[in-house]
Amino acid sequence: MDLSAFTDIESEVRYYCRRLPNLLASAKGAIIRDVDGNEFIDFLSACGALNYGHNHPALKMAAMEYLASDGIVAGLDFHTSAKLAFIEGFRDFILRPRGLDYKLQFPGPTGTNCVEAAVKLARKVTGRSSVVAFTNAFHGMSAGALALTGSRKARQATSAVLHGAVRVPFDGYKGAGSGDLERLVAMANDPSGGIDPIAAIIIETVQGEGGLNVASDDWLRMLHQAAKALGALLIVDDIQAGCGRTGTFFSFERAGLVPDVVCMAKSISGLGLPMSLLLMKPEHDVWEAGEHNGTFRGNSLAFVTGKAALELWRNGELAEVPRHGHVLSSWTAEMARRYGESLRPKGLGMMQGIEFAAPHFAGAVAEAAVRRGVVVECCGPHDEVLKLMPPLNIGSETLEDGLGRIAEAIREVIPSSVSFSKRYESHPDAHYHGGNAVVGPELAHAVA
Ligand SMILES: *Cc1c(COP(=O)(O)O)cnc(C)c1O
Repeated sequence: MDLSAFTDIESEVRYYCRRLPNLLASAKGAIIRDVDGNEFIDFLSACGALNYGHNHPALKMAAMEYLASDGIVAGLDFHTSAKLAFIEGFRDFILRPRGLDYKLQFPGPTGTNCVEAAVKLARKVTGRSSVVAFTNAFHGMSAGALALTGSRKARQATSAVLHGAVRVPFDGYKGAGSGDLERLVAMANDPSGGIDPIAAIIIETVQGEGGLNVASDDWLRMLHQAAKALGALLIVDDIQAGCGRTGTFFSFERAGLVPDVVCMAKSISGLGLPMSLLLMKPEHDVWEAGEHNGTFRGNSLAFVTGKAALELWRNGELAEVPRHGHVLSSWTAEMARRYGESLRPKGLGMMQGIEFAAPHFAGAVAEAAVRRGVVVECCGPHDEVLKLMPPLNIGSETLEDGLGRIAEAIREVIPSSVSFSKRYESHPDAHYHGGNAVVGPELAHAVA
């Protein structure tokens, strides 16, 4: 098969295909197939856009029936039956059972569109401009969201026009904690503290691209207090950590938070179709009609599959998610036991991974895993964290199979000085909290 068109005329910006250059043909659940019939277990899930796996039958059928009935596809923000069903489902299956009172806005279809809308709204509500964002944050690639993103590689081409962010250390960043939040509030309230009045604080409760850093429940609650003390809106960017990735539908449920604004995208449509959703407390809905417009705010096919995905939460199909989270924590803990200070576990729920003391090991393991038929990627400032993001509803055997292959990939890359037990044990009593606190010594990074 001649794939030279990709290398000849597709831009150098292409990325994931460099790890897995095969021509992909089809996918079902957690399995991706290429045109030659090779199969890969998907531990990437389109970066969290496929939490329910590829082509889930209920979601696919809903989309096919909608198209077959000549349902409206591009709907701007007209009232469509597809959107009505989604809004009602979100209210009845997600918001009401959690006692949450939010209004819904459908911005443009990608995550970064949602972050732009959230920040614009917070600036309008407060009449202020500064936004607090954290070290290693990832909020998207358009200019407003990029200003809040930490990665220098992502920022560099645009850095001259990235304004308005106040950078603060994330929980645990080089020992940072509640003291840093207290200092932020003091500086912002000090008339000569040098911080312009803050419109919003934007946070990922678990940093997806930034290295699977988990903010503790206490720190998140303190952050909420800090936002209140500053008169700023708390925005939770749940684009990657939401839709069940950390174990609950919203990632902030574990801390008992009710953010002012919530950004969702990636898996909100379920099938991997573009769609984003902004939740705001009713008192913050200060938009005028058409003030934040966009052509593709009415991807009706995504509303249809999104509604079908909400049904999965109601019908118990995702009951296995906490158990799968245990399997991942047991496995990462076992790797830490085997390899001592070479690596340590990171993350929470179904977004866990392994940080390697020698950063380049993570990429080497990802490559070795692809050779063994598992698609897996890296994250973190030095791409030093191997990130495990299988579909939430992956079959237990496929999950174990994938982990076994990744364990072999690690064994290939890290010459084993530690004794190697043939198969990792599973620990049903393992704490459902990967977190930064789990087994494994602190790593001293050899970073210049
Ligand atoms: C992926 C992601 C975004 C950006 O979403 P896009 O659809 O790629 O624009 C924003 N925030 C977080 C936390 C993400 O993981």
